[in-house]
Amino acid sequence: MSERFDWDVVIVGGGPAGLSAALNLARARRRTLVLDSNRPRNSATFHSHGFLSRDGISPLELRKMGREELEQYPNVSFERTIVESIEPLASAGSGFTVTHRGGAVTTRAVLIATGLREVLPKLPTLRAFYGTSIHSCMECDGYEYADRAIALIGHTDDLAERALLLSQWSLDLIVFTQGVGHVSEADEAMLAERGVRVDRREVADVAGDRDGLNGVVLADGETVAREAAFVRPDYETALDYAAGLQLALDAEGLIVVDAAGRTTTAGAYAIGDATPPGPQQLIVAAGDGAEVAAVINRDLL
Ligand SMILES: Cc1cc2nc3c(=O)[nH]c(=O)nc-3n(C[C@H](O)[C@H](O)[C@H](O)COP(=O)(O)OP(=O)(O)OC[C@H]3O[C@@H](n4cnc5c(N)ncnc54)[C@H](O)[C@@H]3O)c2cc1C
Repeated sequence: MSERFDWDVVIVGGGPAGLSAALNLARARRRTLVLDSNRPRNSATFHSHGFLSRDGISPLELRKMGREELEQYPNVSFERTIVESIEPLASAGSGFTVTHRGGAVTTRAVLIATGLREVLPKLPTLRAFYGTSIHSCMECDGYEYADRAIALIGHTDDLAERALLLSQWSLDLIVFTQGVGHVSEADEAMLAERGVRVDRREVADVAGDRDGLNGVVLADGETVAREAAFVRPDYETALDYAAGLQLALDAEGLIVVDAAGRTTTAGAYAIGDATPPGPQQLIVAAGDGAEVAAVINRDLL
């Protein structure tokens, strides 16, 4: 182990990706520091689904359990803070200085696990229901709305494909294109065959009460009764703090990595939602963390 650096690996981001990498690096006897600002992408929701043995767990509880597991390893430390910059350590020829709100540390390798920031459609009341009766991940939350009256509100080219997917959970589905989402006449006919309706009017807002969403409000004043909705946020990686690494990003702004999680900068790795193909699921992010931890351990030898 090299003592020239404060840490072997600094992990930025303590979500499922970062925590899983930390656990596996801990077990490889790597001196590992996790720095996390505690802004999980799924903080809007109370129940996480689809994580083997933890189906339905609260996102915060899952993270808490992950952090508690790390506590038994003396070579790992976790700090609640915001990372502000990462710079290559020119004097050492390799390694990095990671500066965060609580100070600065040196490390042989950095692992970026900071996920994505969501930009939700600009409907005034949407945020009040996001995570409880408005969702973005069908695989995560579709099951709870099986055969119920749901909406898909979209604006992107993949709207018809997403509608087809959502019809797996309910055929009582209306697709709101907001006048911009691309659903061709052929796609509309294909969806109609399954009983899915397409409404091309402009959406002004959503409506609901303490029990959750109860309608989609159109610009012409009509409210269409719906019990839940799925939306397609835009996603940002928010990597200003990593500018010093000069990471290559793809057209979506995601960090370009090879199959082993190595970025284009030697010694810097990336995992989880911040890497292609972007937004995924908790267990996928955690699996990614385990896989890349093994790669980092080998690369450091
Ligand atoms: C509303 C919602 C519900 C979801 N429900 C499910 C579900 O039921 N099942 C499922 O499998 N998936 C679900 N997901 C998807 C899941 O949350 C993500 O796929 C997963 O969290 C990605 O993990 P990650 O570790 O890559 O990123 P994240 O979990 O987003 O963690 C990234 C961490 O990095 C930290 N960070 C960011 N910038 C900095 C910085 N500069 N310094 C320090 N720390 C920083 C953040 O605070 C955050 O803690 C849901 C997503 C959303 C939005």
